[in-house]
Formats: sequence, structure tokens, C-alpha cells
Amino acid sequence: MNKLRILAIKADFARKQAIPDILANLVNALILVCAFWPVLPHHKLLIWFATLFLGSIIRILISCSMCKNLIHIKSVKKWAITYGILTCAFALVWGASGVVFFVPDSIGHQLFISILICGIVAGSVSSLPVFLPVFYFFSFSLMLPVTIMLLLNGNGLVFYMGILCIMFILYISMAGYKSHSIIVDALSSRFIHEDMARTDELTQVMNRRAFNETLLKEVGIAKRNKRLITFILCDIDHFKQINDTYGHLIGDDILKKTAQTLKMSIRRPSDTVARFGGEEFAIILAETDQDGAKHIAETIRANVEKESTNWETKATISLGVYTCIPDQETIPEKIVHKADQALYNAKDKGRNQVQIFED
Ligand code: GH3
Ligand code: MG
Ligand code: MG
Repeated sequence: MNKLRILAIKADFARKQAIPDILANLVNALILVCAFWPVLPHHKLLIWFATLFLGSIIRILISCSMCKNLIHIKSVKKWAITYGILTCAFALVWGASGVVFFVPDSIGHQLFISILICGIVAGSVSSLPVFLPVFYFFSFSLMLPVTIMLLLNGNGLVFYMGILCIMFILYISMAGYKSHSIIVDALSSRFIHEDMARTDELTQVMNRRAFNETLLKEVGIAKRNKRLITFILCDIDHFKQINDTYGHLIGDDILKKTAQTLKMSIRRPSDTVARFGGEEFAIILAETDQDGAKHIAETIRANVEKESTNWETKATISLGVYTCIPDQETIPEKIVHKADQALYNAKDKGRNQVQIFED
């Protein structure tokens, strides 16, 4: 999951950077065409510029159309691949300039084209290394044709310029790799810290703070789409007695195992389990009706009862279930309160059971 999250951030960065980069490249292309206008056949220059211009327009249009789609994490991979292919195609057109703009008799023009291409590649270190293979393809496609032309056709100063270009390719590859590592390390540690802030340390399920945010979001979605939402409150029965009899460390272990059993009992990725309080857990089931919710709650209850036969001591849980289609007045606290009333009912009726709150 972290890989996809990192990819999403990288794609977002590349998307934001794409349009300024493309425009800067077009200005560079214009400078190049102007500088070579007096010495090269005009049709050659115009065909090259037209190809680059068309490619730039396609890249800009695709970058703009992807803005909305990027909100969905599923479309990130598709965007990253499209971005990579377009950037590589663009690099090939630029790479061709190393051959098209090579004027055999003019050292000045030979040095000018090589310096301009080096400048474009150096500039790409600030944006392209987010996708390392794209960066390598881009810098090699740009640098190799001009470098080969310098080495094959030049003598003296121009030949040494070719050697310097090889050194530049090596240096720029290292710089790109370093920049890529820094970006990935920074993003990984950011996600690790974000996950830690959202996870309960003991049970490794979502903590209360993150759960409150999730519940608010899910209630909002259910309200907008007029969809069902189910909230389940679970409480370990006679947990104080377990602590008093076996000690707090065993109590902690029972808490961990209960959390894991709840987690494995719900299957849909959209369902959420969280530690709600001391020995209480909360579950959100999106788009689940009352019969479905009752069935899942009963399965959870039975799983804890069955699994706990292998724990330090047997444990049972009571569950309060509330299902509704939230209206404009529905607030998360109201939903929690109703599930809590059902839970109270379950305790009152003898524990180790599921009770439903009926509106
Ligand atoms: P009931 O069946 O009515 O829910 O009874 P109960 O004993 O489970 O409920 P009560 O509210 O009386 O006790 C809850 C206990 O949970 C008391 C508290 O010490 C314990 N507890 C809360 N958090 C933790 C924790 O992180 N670790 C451990 N070991 N115990 C905890
Ligand atoms: Mg309790
Ligand atoms: Mg309890």
C-alpha cells in the first residue's frame, strides 16, 4: 500500500511540474531554432520544431485531463505510465536535435547545441528523478546522440567537449539517483509517521482519533449518496476480572488477540476496525443493511468465543449494532450513542451476544 501512496505523491509532483517544464522546453526549442536559422535548411528546423510543439501540446492536454482522475488512487498507475511514455517520446525528439542541429563546419554551433542539451538535462534533475527509469531514459536519449556526434566529427576542442559530455552523463546519473533516494526516503518516513499517528500502539488497529475522522467521512459519504451505514460497538465481557485474575500483561495480550480476531472477521477493504476505548472496539461497515450487519456481528462474536479457547483465558464480547441511512441531522455522536445503547442492552441481557438498536 505504501508503494502506491508513494507513487501517488510522485505522480502528483510530476503532474504539477509537467506544464512549467514543457513550456520551458518549448522556449529552449525556439532559442535553438533561432540560433540555427542562418546555418541550417529551414524545412529541417521547422519539421523538428513542429514535432516537438505537437508533442508538447499532447503532453499539456494529458497533464490537464489527469488532474481530476488523480484523486482516485487506482488511476495513479495509469497516469504514471502515460507520463513516462510521453516524456520518453519527448526525450527522443530532443535527442534527435543533437544530430539535426550538428553543423559540421562550425565549432561555435557544435559547442552551442551540446551546452544547451547539457543545460536541459541538468534542469531535469529537479523534477524527473521522481521516476528514475524515466529520468535515465530522458538524460541518455538527450546526451548520447550529441556526444557521439562530438566524438566522431570533432577534433581538438570539440572532441574534448565530447569527453566532457561523457563525464557529465555519469555525474548527472549519480545526481539523479541521489535525488530519487532522498525523495523516496522522505516519503517513506512521512508515511511511517502518519501511520504511527493513526494506529493504536497496543492492538495495532486504528486509534480513536483516526477513527473519529473516518466515521465523520463515512457518515458524510452515506449522507450524500443516501446509502446505509452500520456502526458496531464491541466490548470484552468481564475484562476487569480477567485483569484481576491473570494480571495486566495477560489482559493486554487478550486485547491484542481480540483486535486481530475482529480484523480477520471483516473482509471488505472499506470496513474499519478501531480501538474505541480501554477494552472497547468500534467497527464501521459501509453500505451494509441491518440483516447483513447482524450476520457479521454474530460471526465476530462467534469467532472471538472460538479463537479464545486457544488464548491464556477464554474471552467473550458483547456487541451493539446500529444501521441507518443518515439524514441531514445525523451526526456521528448520535450513531455512536445508539450503538452504545444496544451494547448496554446486550450486557444487560447476559453478555456474549449481539443486540440491534431499532429506530
Ligand atoms: P463488562 O462485561 O460489563 O464490560 O465488564 P468489564 O469488567 O469488562 O468492564 P469494566 O468497565 O468494569 O472494566 C474494564 C476494564 O478494562 C478496566 C480496565 O482496567 C481494563 N482496561 C482498559 N484498558 C486496558 C488496557 O489497555 N490493558 C489492560 N490490561 N486492561 C485495560
Ligand atoms: Mg467497557
Ligand atoms: Mg467490558
